[in-house]
Amino acid sequence: MSNSNFTQLNLKPALTNNLESLGYRSMTPIQAQSLPPIIDGKDVIAQAKTGSGKTAAFALGVLQRLNVKRFRVQSLILCPTRELADQVAKEVRRLARQIHNIKVLTLCGGVPMGPQIGSLEHGAHIIVGTPGRVHDHLSKGRLDLSELNMLVLDEADRMLEMGFQDAIDDIIEHAPKTRQSLLFSATFPPKIKSIAERVMSNPTMVKVEATH
Ligand code: ADP
Ligand code: MG
Repeated sequence: MSNSNFTQLNLKPALTNNLESLGYRSMTPIQAQSLPPIIDGKDVIAQAKTGSGKTAAFALGVLQRLNVKRFRVQSLILCPTRELADQVAKEVRRLARQIHNIKVLTLCGGVPMGPQIGSLEHGAHIIVGTPGRVHDHLSKGRLDLSELNMLVLDEADRMLEMGFQDAIDDIIEHAPKTRQSLLFSATFPPKIKSIAERVMSNPTMVKVEATH
């Protein structure tokens, strides 16, 4: 296989340097396939099995695109469960260690509303959350997505299984149309095709087959 070092991506130095300090040297296959079109600004649908490094693929795309000087919600990452959203937020923060003053906020169900509303008032660059709770804040006017330029659906197959389709559709209604959208999934059931058609424009599809 061709060399798949992160340095060939021309990421911001704050990301490249941090990847090196984290010991991330070569890209995993899904990262090597999805990151070039993501960094190019394309909509990307990426399918690869669990544990293949999908989080860093979209997180690096989000962080590369982000303008930290503009303190507005620029990226929204939707995950099926609170546990997964917490893991994703942790990985985003780890990859963003050298980007100063970046604010990543999680918005998940099963967490008291009061403190969450307080955190929202303080603002964020990146929101990681579950569709139900994010939709709840949006519908009550507590979350402004007017400057959103990146939407990520992580574990899209599980979000659909869990019945989040309507919440996701409503969230998209609140998001600017000129955004970049990324969809990551371990499987690709027919239902994903229809949500992908509504969320994405002319997406690039990348898939890493299981080797055994
Ligand atoms: P997925 O979302 O595909 O199930 P994860 O994103 O959770 O997989 O990644 C699995 C593990 O691999 C994580 O612990 C992550 O820190 C690690 N990882 C991801 N990319 C790399 C890389 N390029 N080099 C080393 N470790 C990596
Ligand atoms: Mg994952």
